[in-house]
Amino acid sequence: MPRLVIVSPCYNEEAILVYSAGELTALLERLIAAGKILPTSHVLYVNDGSRDRTWELIEELHRTNPFIDGLCLAGNVGSELAVMAGMMTARDVADAVVTIDADLQDDLAAIEEMIDRYLEGYDIVYGVKVSRVADPFLKRTTAQAFYRMQEAMGIRVIYNHTNFRLMSRRALDALACYPERNLYLRGIIPQLGYPSTTVDDVIRERVAGETKYNYRKLLLLAVDGITSFSTRPISWIIGGGLLCLLISICMAVYVLVSYIEHLSVPGWASLMLSLWFIGSIVLLSLGVIGQYIGKIYIEIKQRPRYHIAQHLQHNDQ
Ligand code: UDP
Ligand code: MG
Repeated sequence: MPRLVIVSPCYNEEAILVYSAGELTALLERLIAAGKILPTSHVLYVNDGSRDRTWELIEELHRTNPFIDGLCLAGNVGSELAVMAGMMTARDVADAVVTIDADLQDDLAAIEEMIDRYLEGYDIVYGVKVSRVADPFLKRTTAQAFYRMQEAMGIRVIYNHTNFRLMSRRALDALACYPERNLYLRGIIPQLGYPSTTVDDVIRERVAGETKYNYRKLLLLAVDGITSFSTRPISWIIGGGLLCLLISICMAVYVLVSYIEHLSVPGWASLMLSLWFIGSIVLLSLGVIGQYIGKIYIEIKQRPRYHIAQHLQHNDQ
């Protein structure tokens, strides 16, 4: 039986915390009674520099409810890093960690399924949104377009999965090897390579409070989601350079014909030719420099190069 820790990031969530704690406690009690998790399982709320009474509430819940633990970050670092802090703290005591937003928009019933999959031997279980009707139209469509774009860039992501997932201790240990600051968990976790599966997540409206993610924050996260995993945009510069070179060759023919036929004013031919030619050389050079910068970027992140799943060996010596 695993010891489960449910990690939940909270930023100005005073309106929903008590409700959320009640629901999660009831869930833990149910799972303990069903003999699926150890009685020492608990919830770990991570206060991400809230400016309201969130932390006071967590302290109070911790005093009165043995299932509630809290972690208070010194300032606001954003939900990705807050979730990371919670997971890394829980890793010391947990066999499995489930991360879920404090607003409980995700399907609580899916947590039991996640445990079942974990017991079957999966290290990572992704909650995948089967219906996003609770999301506003603009958010839904931009989010889905974004997943498609990431796929087109060769980034491995799980379609319609956000940060609702279960991870085993082994997967968390692997995740701990990623020291990067521009954290985009949804991109890193599929790279870990451990056995993974998905469960359905029917999301619903927020019960109280409002979203802490405005479109500016979402856009910044989306930029992280691409630039932290792909140097493909740099390669596009080279493509642009080659295209310009091709155009300059066509222009050369056109300009030459116009020159021979005396269709152009003096100076136009040389101007036109140098314009396209220099343009393509500049773009190509930028692309070449970009390739090196891309390599430096990948090296500097110091991501692990592999994770070991199993090592069969006879006794040493
Ligand atoms: N959150 C956080 N730090 C932030 C912003 C959000 O820890 O700077 C938490 C928030 O409390 C919630 C989760 O991240 O538990 C997801 O936020 P929200 O529900 O507002 O986003 P949405 O579901 O609307 O995308
Ligand atoms: Mg939410």
